[in-house]
Formats: sequence, structure tokens, C-alpha cells
Amino acid sequence: AQQTRVAVVTGVNRGIGLAILRQLASDSAGPLVVYASTRAGTLPEGVAEECQPHVKILPVRLSLRDPSSIDALASRVAKEQAAVDVLINNAGVYYYRERISDAERADTLETNYWGTLRMCQAFLPILRNPGGRIVNVSSQAGRLRWLAPHLRPRFLARDLTLEELDGLVREYDAAAARGGEVKAGWPPMAYSVSKAALNAFTRILAREHPGLLINSCCPGWVKTDLGAQAGPPPKTPEEGARIPLHLAFGEIGDTSGQYWANDSTGDSGI
Ligand code: NDP
Repeated sequence: AQQTRVAVVTGVNRGIGLAILRQLASDSAGPLVVYASTRAGTLPEGVAEECQPHVKILPVRLSLRDPSSIDALASRVAKEQAAVDVLINNAGVYYYRERISDAERADTLETNYWGTLRMCQAFLPILRNPGGRIVNVSSQAGRLRWLAPHLRPRFLARDLTLEELDGLVREYDAAAARGGEVKAGWPPMAYSVSKAALNAFTRILAREHPGLLINSCCPGWVKTDLGAQAGPPPKTPEEGARIPLHLAFGEIGDTSGQYWANDSTGDSGI
């Protein structure tokens, strides 16, 4: 019998996450168990009905801003499964305007950066090794070209550590709290910093775990609540799900530590 694969996907109640879940429910080639996380802990309507008989979807409650919910999910999965094949960190927030409140900046950094990093760290010990994969859904907005030239090498340093990256994000946060971040060379949006940091920890974790395939990607500009804030996006959620699904299940050789955009081209993220 074919081995049952195990996947964990965050933010499946709407947008790209829901499209990823629908695709897995209806198209999975072999037996699959999906731990499907939402903040409410319930499955989006209709998905259970779309499920192929060999796909099992388990709804789980998780907030990236609640570390105990992350750790609880990882311990549950560790008890129930031999290993995790794929973790797709899809959930994220974007406040699309230049002036955001301190609370909105905190939400952006805690969700997209600290929470997503904690997900990776909680699941790394139970990822199938070798061959387990992590896909961190990032954004074009996290490209380092949005940062002043003096800041870019600090994100790109080959020996950058998670502690140093944390220091960089805290440096940005402190500058933003004073309203001085743009003068200091940071982009005007916290979202950009959160995704630049996500790309950076993707590279660090890939370097530290050579047996695994850990990548980040921009899904493109996608018609979701988040994407539509900036105008009418060209891609459907199904199209937006393509790149993350490819990185999670497709043929990617031994590519790891890369930022992927424009479908399947490995890209340095600069
Ligand atoms: P949506 O706003 O449609 O969905 C975002 C998802 O993230 C929701 O399920 C939301 O849950 C969840 N989420 C938000 N905060 C938390 C949290 N603290 N804990 C757990 N879940 C949370 O956005 P998209 O589908 O467009 O975005 C998915 C990913 O794609 C994001 O990482 C985004 O940055 C990225 N992206 C999207 C682009 C686009 O054009 N749409 C472009 C580039 C990147 P809830 O419903 O409970 O709020």
C-alpha cells in the first residue's frame, strides 16, 4: 500500500489557504492526512464534501499569535504521526497603508515573522528527514530591494543567525515605534519587513537542516481579501495556490533556501 503522507497547512478558512486545501482534498494523488488550521478551529464549508476517500482533513485551532496553540498542535501531530511530510505556512496579515497603528505593526510582525518562525521551529523536529518540506508563503513586498542598500547585506549575510535576524527586526520595530524607520532605510510598510525576515529565516533554516527542503515563495497577486486591498488582482486563489503546492509536492530536486516567484524559478529574493 502507498504510504500516507502528512501535511500541515495554516490559514485554510479563506483565500489562498482555502484554495490549497480544496486542491489537496480533491486532487491528492495518494493517501494524505491534512492538519488544516484556522483561528476558529473549524473547517470551511463544503471542503469535507469535496474530499476524496483517501484524503483525511483534520480541522485544528491555531493562532500564530498564540505560541501555546502552535506548540500544542506540534505535540498532537508528534503523538499521532510518525513524521510530517509538508508544512505550508500560508497564514499572514497585510495592512495595506503607510501609516499603521502600533497594534497593527505588532500583528504584522508577530503573525508573519515570529509566529511563522515558531511554526517552523515546532515542526522541524518531526519533519520527515530526509525529504520533509516547509513552504513559507512570502511576498514580492519582502524583496530586499525595498530596503536601503546598507541594510541588505545584513539580511543576506551567509552566516546570519536567528538571533541576529531577531535583532534586525527589533531594530526596525524600535525605529517604527519612533516614526523614524524610513529615515533609517527601512521600507514604509511593516509587511515588507516581516516578509523580508521570513525569507531570511527560510535561508537560515535551510542552511541548518541540509536534509530538508525549506523554501519561501510569492504566490503572485491574488484575488483574496488581502490581495484585493491594492486594486483588482489578476490571479484567482486557485492560481495563487499553484506555486506553494508545487514547492510542497512537486519535483523541485534538492532546491532549498530559495525564494520562488513567477512560478517555478528559483530566485535570490533580492
Ligand atoms: P487572506 O487575508 O485571504 O487570508 C489570510 C489567512 O491568514 C486567513 O486564513 C487568516 O485567518 C489567517 N491569519 C491571519 N492572522 C492569523 C493568525 N494570527 N493566526 C493564524 N492565522 C492567521 O490572505 P491570502 O490568502 O491572500 O494570503 C495568504 C498568504 O499569501 C499570506 O501569507 C500573504 O501574505 C501571502 N500573499 C498574498 C498575496 C495576494 O495577492 N493575495 C500576495 C503576496 C503574498 P482569519 O480568517 O481568521 O483572519
